Amino acid sequence: MFSEEPELEFCAACGEERDIFEFLEDGSNLFATYCQPCRRTHIKEWIKEHPKEVKAHALDHQHRRRAESFGGKTESVDRFKVFQRDEGACYLCGGMVDPENWHLEHKIPLSKGGSHTYENVGVSHPECNISKGTKVA
Ligand SMILES: [Zn+2]
Ligand SMILES: [Zn+2]
Repeated sequence: MFSEEPELEFCAACGEERDIFEFLEDGSNLFATYCQPCRRTHIKEWIKEHPKEVKAHALDHQHRRRAESFGGKTESVDRFKVFQRDEGACYLCGGMVDPENWHLEHKIPLSKGGSHTYENVGVSHPECNISKGTKVA
């Protein structure tokens, strides 16, 4: 019935055969095909090399929690996708923003029950954002 042999799979990073349980079923994970030790090191390196994405991810979580606390809908919003969608144009004044310095703005503020969803966010200049006068942080 059961074989004594563990099921093995090759790690995409080190190329060694490892027990299949070390791999992730979640194929959307960047390192699903890496063995456990390889995944640990690569995640560490990835975090070091992608501070912007890591920060954006943390901020996304903050926004979701804030929206939820005010009863707004939430979804995971990738700010880089929003930037692409809006083609880098500020939704308040229509001007181009600095790709290194722009705000992901909630059109209906979260504090007013606005949702943290693609629909309710736009690219904005930090200045336009402040003059709109709804943002505290
Ligand atoms: Zn490996
Ligand atoms: Zn603007």
